[in-house]
Formats: sequence, structure tokens, C-alpha cells
Amino acid sequence: MSYEKKWAGNEKLNKTEKKKLEKDGLEIFNDIPNYAKYGFSSIPKEEWDSFKWAGLYLQRPKEDGFFMMRVNVPSGILTHEQAEVLAGISKDYGRGVFDITTRQAIQFHWLEIEQIPDIFNRLHSVGLSSAGACGDITRNIVGNPLAGIDPNELFDTSPIVKEVFDFFQHNEDFSNLPRKYKMSISTNLHNAANAEINCVSFTPAVKVIEGEETKGFHIKIGGGLSARPYLAETIDAFVLPAQVRNISVAITTIFRDYGYREKRHLARLKFLMADWGAERFKEKIEEYTGPLLAKGIDVSKAWNAGYFYGVHPQKQAGLSYVGFNVPVGRLAADEVLELARISKEYGNGEIRTCNSQNLIIPNIPSEKAEKMLEEKIFERITVRPRSFIGYSVSCTGIEYCNLALVETKERMRRIAEYLDEEVLLDVPVRLHMVGCPNSCGQRQIADIGLQGIKMKTKDKKMVEAFEIYVGGTLNNGGKFNEKLKGKIEGSLLAPVLKGFLTYFKENKHLEETFFEF
Ligand code: SF4
Repeated sequence: MSYEKKWAGNEKLNKTEKKKLEKDGLEIFNDIPNYAKYGFSSIPKEEWDSFKWAGLYLQRPKEDGFFMMRVNVPSGILTHEQAEVLAGISKDYGRGVFDITTRQAIQFHWLEIEQIPDIFNRLHSVGLSSAGACGDITRNIVGNPLAGIDPNELFDTSPIVKEVFDFFQHNEDFSNLPRKYKMSISTNLHNAANAEINCVSFTPAVKVIEGEETKGFHIKIGGGLSARPYLAETIDAFVLPAQVRNISVAITTIFRDYGYREKRHLARLKFLMADWGAERFKEKIEEYTGPLLAKGIDVSKAWNAGYFYGVHPQKQAGLSYVGFNVPVGRLAADEVLELARISKEYGNGEIRTCNSQNLIIPNIPSEKAEKMLEEKIFERITVRPRSFIGYSVSCTGIEYCNLALVETKERMRRIAEYLDEEVLLDVPVRLHMVGCPNSCGQRQIADIGLQGIKMKTKDKKMVEAFEIYVGGTLNNGGKFNEKLKGKIEGSLLAPVLKGFLTYFKENKHLEETFFEF
């Protein structure tokens, strides 16, 4: 029975699910030209949430009618033409703001409904899209930002990411999932795609088949962050590269048809996986795909958290890739144009985005790399960032986000720069800041996670404050960070962190990391 028939008329369905059964999320694309013609006031309030399927959210305050747009960048790979078009959109419509997300996507702010058709046309002209970048649908597919050039990958996953992304993109068979749905496909040996926190991940593995060592993937299912975080579990299966698409379709079909749709906070794939367990989930996949091979050998090594700073040799002799820090993931449109020019002049015109909200310029003839680094822009977008600003991640926060309780991005930048002045460390400490219990800034996997809350002071004023969490990692199978007692008023966060990190500095061994401490 189709999921539509299964759920039709079921009063236990939540409000969003009832609406999705009446009207598919992707239908918003048919409505947008009309809304653009007649302006923001022509959009009924009950349609506001449908814009998510087009990668659009109303930014804070919703009534002002400005949109945030998220654009998919599968595997984080952008051509210079795409980067130029994105920079142009940001400059012409988005007040020059250009954010890199923790899933390798790009975000704009300040867009108005009248501008959206032109923005869609511009994106379309360079093969980009915002479809499904938000909403209960397959989101941007995260991959190895070094796919195809990486000496530390089992094989190039960029064609597989493209094949799977293209299949799900604007696919009305899979546009009504119970909740958002996040996939990663990467064979970077250092887990650059953060496999354990995705709903479904394909990770590097080998297996001897008919006497030959064969390269492929293991599958992890059921990861996800937010208020009840889960690490994805590996099922007993080995997948050949050619099977990835079909297996992705099978898992997504299972989520669509068996996922929970009554309570939205329990609808992510992680809850179905937690209830079913790895064995039952594998058996269900095999109902769609036929028997799967048993697991091979996991070839993953220590986690790199998506950081690639500096100049490094590529797989291809004589070429290098260069990893840069983008402080808290925010660039100005003019900087993006400059990076596009530089990528063309010195490399092959590609720019790549990382989960750490940073950038890579690949395919630089190795002898040109030092010259390239003399370009003025690399005084700010540096290859050698300091210990805190280089490893600080932040979500959007109260500046634009309706769910935010506190300011995040600028605050994270200020605090990281302050700590770099005050505490000199020989190892990086990964700081992640989020403005609410959601996890756009992936607070749970940070060395130090900072989660915004509202707090009542002694004189009964409501102020911005933070909870502090320590010890998150995706090394050794992964562990979420744990909350320290108490909460800290926002204005005191920087000195409190300074005290905490000074204690770490004074008591740690040489090169001991925060996680090892
Ligand atoms: Fe908004 Fe919360 Fe996401 Fe930050 S984590 S962008 S505050 S929803």
C-alpha cells in the first residue's frame, strides 16, 4: 500500500503531514511565479512553510517578507562560473552576504519574492538548484570535498554523488518524506563527510570478492543531531559503487513508507532505525534490492572534521590543493568573485566547500601555490588560521533565524578572535555555536559546544545565555559532547571560556588535544 493510502484520513497525523498529503511540497515551484508577480502580501500565511521545498525560509521577522535561500552544492564542488553566479545573486539581491553551511551548501539572506524567479533562472543557467535544500525531502548530498583529487580517498565518489543527487532532485516520488533526510557519500579515509551524523552514509570499505580485493562502501543508517542525537549504525552489508543509487532508493523508500508521521519530533529516520535495529533494517532493504553482500573491512582512519588547511599534494602528480579558513563560514560577495578569479588564474577554476564551513581551491600547479598565496584576499581567508578562529563553526542565529534564541555568528567570531589573543595553544580546539536546541552548527560533535538559551537574571530580566558542552568527536565511532552544570550569561562567555581554556593549556601535555585531555 502506498504511504498516501496508508495515512489518508488518519487523524493522528500531525498538521504538517495532513497538509503534505493535500499538496506536495514541490508544487510551490508552480506557485512562485504568481506570488512574485503579486508580491509578498499575496502569499497566504499557511503557504509560508511550503517554500522550504524550494530551499527558501522566511527570515526573522517573517512578516517583513525577506527570504533566506539555501543552494545545493553536491559534494561541495563548484565551478568558477557557478561561484560567479552565486556571488552575483548575493551582490544583486542578498546584500552581499554569502554563507557556507555545515553541509557544504551556500546560503543567501534578504531575498524578496519578486526576485526569486530571476534567481532560479540564474541558478539554472549554471546547473545549480535550491530544490529540496530545505523541507521534508532529500537535502544536499554531502561528499568528500577532495573527491577525485584526494590521495586519501579509496576512489573518486563525485560521479556517484551526482548520480544519486540527480535522481532525488525534484523527484516527486520522494518529495514527501516524514522529515528532513540527509545523506553522505564519501571514501575520504578521514571521514570528511561526518558519516555518523547523517541519516544514511556510504563509507569506505574493501572486501575480497572471488579472490580479488574490491573497493566499495559500508552503509551507516540512523544518525542525526538535534535534541535527541543518534550516531548512525553500520549494517552488515558491502556495497559496490554501482549499487549505491539503488540502495539509496531502497532506504529512502523505506523511510517514506515506514517512517513515523504522527509526531514531528519523532519522525527522523534515526527513530525508525533505533526501533528496528541494524539487522531488521538490512532485511527490509533486501526486500527491495535482493541479497546484499556481508560487510568487508572498514578502511577509515582518524577523523579530520573536514579541515584541510595549507598546501597539499593531490593524487595527480604536480598538482596541489589549498585549504583556506573562512571565519565562521561567512564571505562577502566580492570575496567570492575574487576567489573565482584566482581559482581560474591559478587552478582549473574550481572551488570546493567543506562541512567545516571552509574552502578549498584545487588543481593548482604545485610551483604556483606560493605565488597564489601572495594574493591580498588570503590575508583574511588564510591557510594558517589561529587555533580558535580556524576551528570555530557557527549556525545562522538570531540575525536571520526564526528559531534562534541568541546571536551566534558574529558572537562566535568575536569570541574566537579574543581567545586567539588571550590563550596561545599548540593544538586547535573545535568550538561550535548554535542559537537553539537544533543543530545547524553541529554543536554535539564539537570539542566545546555552545548552545544558546534565554536566562532570567537575578533582577528578573531575560538575557541571552549559553550552556556549555564538552568532549564531542567522531573519532573511534563517535561520542556526543556532555553538558557542564550551569549556564553562562552571553556577556560573560568569552572570559569564562578563557579561564576554562587556560586551565586546559596549563594542565595538558605537549600536543595533547582537547579530546585526549
Ligand atoms: Fe536557527 Fe537553531 Fe539552526 Fe541556529 S541551530 S540556525 S538558531 S534553527
